[in-house]
Amino acid sequence: MEQPTLDEFRERCRSWLADNAERRTAEPRKFVWGEGSDSVALFSNITLEEEAEVHAASRRWEQLKADAGLGSISWDPQYGGLGLPREYERVYRSEEARFVVPESHELIQISRNIVAATIAVHGTGEQRAFFVRAMRRADLVSCQLFSEPGAGSDLASIAMRAERDGDEWVVSGQKVWTTGARFADWGYVLCRTGTAEERHRGLTAFLVRMETPGIEVRPLRQMTGGSSFNEVFFDSVRVPDSQRLDGVGEGWRVAMTTLGFERSQSMSNGRVGAPWVQYLALAHHIGVADDPVGRQLLARLYSQMQADRWTSLRGLARIKQGKAPGPEGSIAKLAWTNQNQLASTVVTHLLGAGLLADSGEWGTYAWTELIVGTPGTRLAGGTDEIQRKIIGERALGLPPEPRPDGG
Ligand SMILES: Cc1cc2nc3c(=O)[nH]c(=O)nc-3n(C[C@H](O)[C@H](O)[C@H](O)COP(=O)(O)OP(=O)(O)OC[C@H]3O[C@@H](n4cnc5c(N)ncnc54)[C@H](O)[C@@H]3O)c2cc1C
Repeated sequence: MEQPTLDEFRERCRSWLADNAERRTAEPRKFVWGEGSDSVALFSNITLEEEAEVHAASRRWEQLKADAGLGSISWDPQYGGLGLPREYERVYRSEEARFVVPESHELIQISRNIVAATIAVHGTGEQRAFFVRAMRRADLVSCQLFSEPGAGSDLASIAMRAERDGDEWVVSGQKVWTTGARFADWGYVLCRTGTAEERHRGLTAFLVRMETPGIEVRPLRQMTGGSSFNEVFFDSVRVPDSQRLDGVGEGWRVAMTTLGFERSQSMSNGRVGAPWVQYLALAHHIGVADDPVGRQLLARLYSQMQADRWTSLRGLARIKQGKAPGPEGSIAKLAWTNQNQLASTVVTHLLGAGLLADSGEWGTYAWTELIVGTPGTRLAGGTDEIQRKIIGERALGLPPEPRPDGG
């Protein structure tokens, strides 16, 4: 296929979107105080039934886009992509922002951008053919089963055991904080196949059907209200060896690829609960725009948002040039959580006691959703401390931290 120009491609996106979605009345990102939803939640406060609807709608939208060739614009055609440069993805996103489209469910993002991407690198030909295109299209959706009660930041201490039994593996143990496990068809799971002393050398990755007998998913209720993550128990779950991802004992290498994709996701995740103008509008609305401390905090937030956006753009430019994602992924993730914390401080200062009770007034109490969601963002996808460790060692070349295994 001859590569369309960006303008031709924009036209194609516009016309497809016009046929398949409703155009927004306001310009994208234009903010009018009191209009529309005042939600600034980082995690949804919704019931299981509501989340199931969000998930199903998000899935349908991915399938519709895939059928139009707009689901995996920069991906290889063998996975249903158009093989176009990433700037074409940005063109599509900027056009999509002008339309009302279904909210993207976080499990589908994990499955498409992290699990499918990992299988494309480490899967056998058969696994790539079976999973990658189907996951990109959201026909199959997979959760990521890494963290355990005793293995989060220190992933090398994973204890979930997989024992070989002929052509199968028997898996037992517990995972935790698994986003979207209740809606997943498949689970991408990291297991211990060697001894505990081997640490990262004794791990192997598998792809497991979530409906396999012996798997139990128990939702965890979050302080943000919803239950987007879960505990997942494996009790003698039988997994065919054909579902092993890469070699026995190669799980660490596979997991590092996954974490690289997870961090680079942060570069396109600029959402801080609200656009800058909403913070400014809040200060004007409650009549504190002249407060010197509030002004100073707002100026800090604005500067930080701008600087972080440029850092992310620099990281994306690296990827566009075909270079491996650099430490920008960790910098962007840390910058995002710092922004969330500063934004929480700003609204707490501006609203004061107005944050404590729900008066029903638009755009006031709703900010509590940002404040209670912020701690979760500091943990998900690698904690602040771990991102600092990566930046220190890989970007600044500082001496490495002592490792628990002395290695
Ligand atoms: C919203 C959300 C979604 C998630 N989704 C998933 C998912 O889908 N799949 C999945 O597998 N996991 C998921 N997780 C789990 C996440 O990956 C872990 O929470 C994270 O890796 C931290 O592990 P932990 O919670 O065990 O904390 P710990 O590792 O026990 O850390 C506790 C504290 O100690 C600090 N610490 C730990 N080690 C060091 C060190 N070496 N140096 C300095 N400080 C250190 C940490 O920074 C942290 O402050 C999710 C978490 C959240 C919050």
